[in-house]
Amino acid sequence: MADNPGITFERLPHPAPTDAAARVAALANPGFGSVFSDHMVTIDWEDGKGWHDATVRPYGPLSLDPATAVLHYAQEVFEGLKAYKQADGGLAMFRPDANAARFNASARRLAMPEIPEEVFIESCRLLVDTDRDWYPTVEGGSLYLRPFMIASEPFLGVRPAKKYKYLVIASPAGNYFKSNATTVSIWVCREHSRAALGGTGAAKCGGNYAASLVPQAEAIEHGHDQVVFLDAEEHKWVEELGGMNLFFVFADGRIVTPPLTGTILPGITRNSLLTLARDEGLDVHEERYSLQQWQADAASGKLVEAFACGTAAVVTPVGTLADHDGEIVIGSGGPGQLTQKFRDRLVGIQRGTIEDKHGWVMKLGF
Ligand SMILES: *Cc1c(COP(=O)(O)O)cnc(C)c1O
Repeated sequence: MADNPGITFERLPHPAPTDAAARVAALANPGFGSVFSDHMVTIDWEDGKGWHDATVRPYGPLSLDPATAVLHYAQEVFEGLKAYKQADGGLAMFRPDANAARFNASARRLAMPEIPEEVFIESCRLLVDTDRDWYPTVEGGSLYLRPFMIASEPFLGVRPAKKYKYLVIASPAGNYFKSNATTVSIWVCREHSRAALGGTGAAKCGGNYAASLVPQAEAIEHGHDQVVFLDAEEHKWVEELGGMNLFFVFADGRIVTPPLTGTILPGITRNSLLTLARDEGLDVHEERYSLQQWQADAASGKLVEAFACGTAAVVTPVGTLADHDGEIVIGSGGPGQLTQKFRDRLVGIQRGTIEDKHGWVMKLGF
């Protein structure tokens, strides 16, 4: 590969790919995260040797020594991005350069090696190319890509590992939320925090998710879809959901999203929506917003819309906010006007039906 001197991908086609009938059945209703394509990418890294053995190979289990570092100390980072079918029938990725940059930022925080951005992007492109037949047929579908990296050295001492494995897997995706409800209901988490200042909240690492599971389970137990985390210091400021950023829309036209203080994951969807809002001259602010104010503004009608955003769920309206004291409906309780407009705008750019003014869409040429 001319533009990646030093890294050439070997391609090992699957000897017995999934039969067409089973694939077609899976693609009609893939849900989220449980169907995987026939291939995966693996690239190894070793201290002193760097990145090597880049391969597109049959999807399958890894064989790991029980002492492998990631299994003990959670040295792992990941990304999530999607390939979308364009109006012209070709496939494209949305802002993969931003995912590559964030992947490396996460890697630095977890004391892991960075991967050249062009290798990250090429690994995704090659997997989509190889498994393009796995693009879902369900309405609104996409091919979700999950690049990730694990510390693969078998060693129980506590220090950065000297060996890593980078992988990419692909999963045809339908609707992220199990219910087809058009809104999510949110439960306030008061007891636990997702991330603290100086911690790993801004890194996309599995450990953050492990810490979010008990609060998320509590939300489900109380009959809600998602948990909202508050800041760890004062338990006052709204941060984000377990895997999505939040926006608030006010009756006076103001739009607010919590600022990137280091405890919030810098979402690429969040960044894209901020850019689109500023393009339109909307009154948008990255500003702290307290839970108490959220509850008061929802009750008074000052707050007219709230929505969550992320690659998996795109833009999803928040219908209600609940805690032990009760539940408040946000705005109409359904998708608000601006929420719908942002969603349509973003989806339109991602799928090539709206002009891509910022060069966000990387057409893959197949
Ligand atoms: C991935 C993620 C997001 C959303 O980021 P996108 O780049 O928009 O997909 C938000 N919060 C957390 C905790 C995440 O892991």
